[in-house]
Amino acid sequence: MTTLKGKVALVTGSTSGIGRAIALSLAGEGADVVLNGFGEDEAIEGLKGEMAKAGAGRVLFDGANLTQPDAIGAMIRRIEREAGAIDVLVNNAGIQHTAVVQDFPTDRWDAIIALNLSACFHTIHHALPGMLDRGWGRIVNVASVHGLVASTRKAAYVAAKHGLVGLTKVVALETAETGVTCNAIGPGWVLTPLVQAQIDRRAKEENIPVAQAEHDLLAEKQPSKAFVTPEQLGALAVFLCGDAARQIRGQTLVVDGGWTAQ
Ligand code: NAD
Repeated sequence: MTTLKGKVALVTGSTSGIGRAIALSLAGEGADVVLNGFGEDEAIEGLKGEMAKAGAGRVLFDGANLTQPDAIGAMIRRIEREAGAIDVLVNNAGIQHTAVVQDFPTDRWDAIIALNLSACFHTIHHALPGMLDRGWGRIVNVASVHGLVASTRKAAYVAAKHGLVGLTKVVALETAETGVTCNAIGPGWVLTPLVQAQIDRRAKEENIPVAQAEHDLLAEKQPSKAFVTPEQLGALAVFLCGDAARQIRGQTLVVDGGWTAQ
């Protein structure tokens, strides 16, 4: 399948986890893929090779730190210069920090809001004009179940993801009569480095084996007791890029093993 052949897709935070899987899925549809995120040079070269093998047209990498608005503008201008205008924008880069609100460090609050929310505004702000000019575009924001419901110890993350769900709706309304759509994906637990860190911390704090902490984490929130896979989210992103999804606008599609059905 090459449904995205000739389209340029930027996936933020695609050197790991969910972003990597979404980039691979878009590569599988023939898109030109722009990777972003942190990582060792060698790992990034390897990743570029994986994208090409999966079917990507051109593959670029830009290591912009997305907590810096100026770096976001510079990255988008560079992509437009070197790859052409962005057709598919996947706002995926995100970080987590857990602490009760009275102990939540201000610098962690600022960093989470900057990356998980404000960076999504800045990328959309810069990429949308090109999409509107060409009459086609797809914006996919990787939110979370935490864009719809809350958990303790995640004040910044829950606030940022709720904000991202709101931003998604506004952009969808402002583009409703155009060929550009904007939606969000709301995953439950996905076993990536971001969640592994939470499992490891839980095991340490409760003095239990890691396997027990993993089981408890799932059992507490996710009725299926199975992790969502990054590949399932990649397939959903591809679906949102297709014609069948043209009238899905402003939605948060949850993939959460039943978490928010409770
Ligand atoms: P991950 O830690 O595996 O990957 C995060 C990516 O973001 C990496 O590529 C990292 O280099 C990049 N990144 C971090 N800081 C950055 C910065 N300042 N600038 C640019 N890139 C930066 O995490 P993941 O679990 O794959 O999470 C991806 C997204 O999915 C996040 O937005 C997260 O909130 C969301 N999400 C994850 C889960 C889950 O269970 N893992 C659930 C719901 C939502």
